[in-house]
This record gives sequence, structure tokens and C-alpha cells, in this order.
Amino acid sequence: MSAPRAQGKRHMAAAGAGGPRPRAHSRRFFALCRYPMLEIDCVARTHPFEPKAHLNVEDSRRGWSAGRALSCRGLIEITGGKMNIPAQRANLQAAAAEVAERIMCAPHAYALFLDLDGTLLDIAERPDAVRVEPGLASDLDRLRDSLAGALAIVSGRTLDDIDGFLHPLRFDAAAEHGSTLRLADGDSATLAATIDPDVVAAVESAAGTFAGVTVERKRSALAVHYRAAPHAAETLAAAMRDIVARSGAELRLIAGRCVYELTPALASKARAVESLSSFFPFAGRRPIFIGDDASDEEACALVERCGGAALAVAGEYFAPERSAFAGPAQVRRWIATLAADLRAACGDRGR
Ligand SMILES: [Mg+2]
Repeated sequence: MSAPRAQGKRHMAAAGAGGPRPRAHSRRFFALCRYPMLEIDCVARTHPFEPKAHLNVEDSRRGWSAGRALSCRGLIEITGGKMNIPAQRANLQAAAAEVAERIMCAPHAYALFLDLDGTLLDIAERPDAVRVEPGLASDLDRLRDSLAGALAIVSGRTLDDIDGFLHPLRFDAAAEHGSTLRLADGDSATLAATIDPDVVAAVESAAGTFAGVTVERKRSALAVHYRAAPHAAETLAAAMRDIVARSGAELRLIAGRCVYELTPALASKARAVESLSSFFPFAGRRPIFIGDDASDEEACALVERCGGAALAVAGEYFAPERSAFAGPAQVRRWIATLAADLRAACGDRGR
């Protein structure tokens, strides 16, 4: 995004002084303003104004973009071309708007890979208690259409879980951290063996000593959730490390958000993104990955190496100041808005 400084200055002056609004906004300007990634009132509450932490909007391309979005909402005081928000947070949250804008400009140049729990779905006390917000599946479907199919779910969940949450739609998916890949047309591949029953028994035995700890059994992996029993974390971690050590090189342990996951050592979300990217319609596109947890880090690094972008969702793992999204609700809003805008843009082009 190239942003002439003079234009940004003119707009900010108008917003701050209540003066005349700029006459000619570009189509892109309005598109950006529709992505309310910068929660002004939230920023103002959680980041009291500290002059040394503030951003001079005119000195930063992303800050300039953020300034446009912020001033459009009219919730921040802008005077003398300076905007009072912490620079790092503004840049990260503006990144989500910029990625959306890049996709808007060239939807067939990008592929979207989305984690599920903590990214599209709010975290719940137990894995079987998550709630799927109405409209999520249809928004994903609309977005997938506009990307000519290049949207996949990359999750630690089983395929059955993913399909159940997004029923009746089926998406290209990497399940169980990439142990199973499935294209929406039905082709699927299982890349790891069924988890050893002795390992399952050992984990269930360790977890069974704590009330509130839930073991989520999968085909090639399993997860131990302790959100309802945080006091069990250290003991469980030691037991899981011991079980992994006894498995030889077959399993690896991932410490996530109140969960310990045992996955096949050769499976990872990064490898899943890499594998899916070799298939149509993902091949040749820049990958965008959105995730919230430790198991997403490798995929984030991979997409950045490939010239794509990684957007983090805040939670116990990614601190808010490292995150482009404050939580799954913002991700869902980003998806719904992008899907609607892409559809409108396609309609306009068709006229
Ligand atoms: Mg997650």
C-alpha cells in the first residue's frame, strides 16, 4: 500500500478538528475502514496515554493506514498530525487490515489457512463444550468462493470434529496437526499410524488422577485438557514428558493453551500447510495463516518464509501486543467483512 503523506495529513486534520471531510476517498479507503481491527476504546482503556509509547502517524506507513481507520471511527483524538496509540499494537492490528486489503486487490493470489479452536471458535472449559457462532460456516464458504477454493482449516481436531462444527459444509482440512489431510472433493490421506493403545492407557491413567482433566482421543494423536484443573499442569507435564520419552521418536509433546498434546513426531501444521500448498487451488499462492497457539508457531514461520503473512490471535499463548486479533470474535468479523467485500467487488466487476 503506498500512502502519500500529504493525503493522510489532510484526512487526520479534518477528523481531529471536526473540519470538512476529504472530498474524494478512494474505494480502498472505505474498504480499510470496514475492518475495525483497531479497537480504539479498548486501546485507550488498556494503554493509558504515554507520550514515549505513542506513534506519529505521519512517520509510519502502517501507522498512516491505522490512522485512517481510526479517524474514520471518530473515537480517537488526533491533533497536529499525531495520534495517541501505542505504535507496536497499532502496527500489528493494522496488519490484519492490510492483509485483507492485499487479498481484496488480488484474491486469487492468496490462500488462507485457518486454525479452529481459539481462532475461529472461542475457547471453552472443555473441548466438547465449544460453541460455533451462527453464520461462521457460511461466511467461510463465501470467502472460499471468492478465493476460488483456496481456504483450508488446519487444526488439532479430528476430521469428524471439523466437519461437525462446520456442518453441512466441508472444507479442505488438515486434521490432528496434519496427521490427516482432506480435500473438500473427498480425497484424503492419513500420514500417521493410529496412536499406540499403550500410550493412550498411560495418558488416561495419568490424567485420571485429577478431577476436571479431560482426555481428547483422536486417531493419531491425543490431547489432555486441564483448563478446569490448572493445579494439575505441572504433574501432567512431567507425566506426558515421560510418556513421550518412552515412545522413542514417534511422538512429540506440544504444550498449548491449557492443553498438552501428543502428536506424531512427523506431523505439524507447518507440514500440513506445505502439503496442501502443493495441491490445486493452493499451489502458487501466497499463504496466509491465522492461529492462536504453540502448535501454530511453525506454520506462522513457514508462511512468512514463503512470502505470505501470519496473523496471531491473542490468548494465553500470544500476548495482545504480539497479536493482530484480540480474540476469535475479531477473526470472525474479519472473515465476514472480507467475504462480503470480495463478493461486492466481484459483483461490481461483473456489472
Ligand atoms: Mg488453536
